[in-house]
Amino acid sequence: METPLALREDRNAMTAASHEQSFPDLREGVRRLCAGFPGAYWQELDRDRRYPTEFVTTLASEGWLSVLIPEEYGGSGLGLAAATAVLEEVHRSGCNGGAAHAQMYTMGTLLRHGSAAQKAQYLPAVASGALRLQAFGVTEPTSGTDTTRIRTFARREGDHYVVNGQKIWISRAEHSDLMVLLVRTTAREDCAKSTDGISVLMVDMREALGNGLTIRPIRTMLNHATTELFFDDLRVPAANLIGEEGKGFRYILSGMNAERILIAAECIGDARFFIDRASAYAGTREVFGRPIGQNQGVQFPIARAYVQTTAAALAVDHAARLFDEGDPAGTEANMAKMLASEASWYAADMCVQTHGGFGFAEEYDIERKFRETRLYQVAPISTNLILSHVATHVLGLPKSF
Ligand SMILES: Cc1cc2nc3c(=O)[nH]c(=O)nc-3n(C[C@H](O)[C@H](O)[C@H](O)COP(=O)(O)OP(=O)(O)OC[C@H]3O[C@@H](n4cnc5c(N)ncnc54)[C@H](O)[C@@H]3O)c2cc1C
Repeated sequence: METPLALREDRNAMTAASHEQSFPDLREGVRRLCAGFPGAYWQELDRDRRYPTEFVTTLASEGWLSVLIPEEYGGSGLGLAAATAVLEEVHRSGCNGGAAHAQMYTMGTLLRHGSAAQKAQYLPAVASGALRLQAFGVTEPTSGTDTTRIRTFARREGDHYVVNGQKIWISRAEHSDLMVLLVRTTAREDCAKSTDGISVLMVDMREALGNGLTIRPIRTMLNHATTELFFDDLRVPAANLIGEEGKGFRYILSGMNAERILIAAECIGDARFFIDRASAYAGTREVFGRPIGQNQGVQFPIARAYVQTTAAALAVDHAARLFDEGDPAGTEANMAKMLASEASWYAADMCVQTHGGFGFAEEYDIERKFRETRLYQVAPISTNLILSHVATHVLGLPKSF
């Protein structure tokens, strides 16, 4: 028998809402924490481009940043799906997880490829918040997205590596005790494959700063604490090599998938923030003697944002589930990040439009979130590179580079 329309709609509503209802206690806990960091807090930081130390310290001390760390090291041992719920709620609440999210995905490189001694040394302190593992050093000015062309080089000298080179856009470097750093240990031209000869070092920023490492902040259109790094004969103990020398490219790939899925979840949170704000405003703002939201010209963009966000959220859930089950998730992580970053950008634009002039006022937080969410179509991987991956790796089209 044909299902009555009302029931079908009910079921659809439940499906669309089911994503938002996963991990309800966890979401409620994050929302409660975020309520202590309202718009005025972020507006003040944004004005001075100041790092949200109080917010990050609270997130860490309440254990939200260590959800992925196994219980034996003091974390809660949950999967990536739980971590996506944390970051989505942070962003939906109007806060910004960009100040702290790196701990979740850089930690995975250490967890999956570090030695027992390295894990015992770092993970419990990272889980408790005593050590901040917030910096991930990959991008360089001359290599851009072409990571195999990085030139920062670590030369082995006895029981140390001596690092020389430069990185750019390395976020949170000034607010991190540790950095997962990608370097070449063999020149590209001396390797059989371009992905060989790349290694991962754990750099103790407290020892490195002023002893071969210089950090120069870059002021950007959003408050992201991003920097340029200069390495001049920085000595890193050989004991800080993660995994085997020359195999580092493979080690960071799964971390990058986690990063893309987590950032996609932040975009979903941003999109929901914009949709929440636009719906509330459109329902109450009266022009021409009626709420603006009564006009379909105002309603439809909000509804479209909701549709796009719901679809993108399903893609994020799917990618997180594959990742948690240990299945290949590269393509799904990329696609989820692309869909979510486009959904959040559409929602951001819609929200500004819905608010008219007030969308530009600092005190509404919309212009700030608008600037913040724009980043995610460029970093950590740009949309073109995702499309190129799908075209060549999934669809079998000829490679262009
Ligand atoms: C605020 C901020 C924070 C960041 N934080 C970090 C961090 O913590 N750690 C880190 O390692 N990096 C970080 N990044 C770097 C970020 O990952 C890179 O900016 C991003 O990967 C793009 O690289 P790029 O800027 O070198 O662009 P490029 O590689 O120079 O590309 C420029 C444009 O050209 C396009 N393009 C390039 N090649 C092709 C091609 N073959 N076909 C089609 N289009 C192409 C790209 O899609 C892009 O739109 C951050 C960046 C920003 C802006």
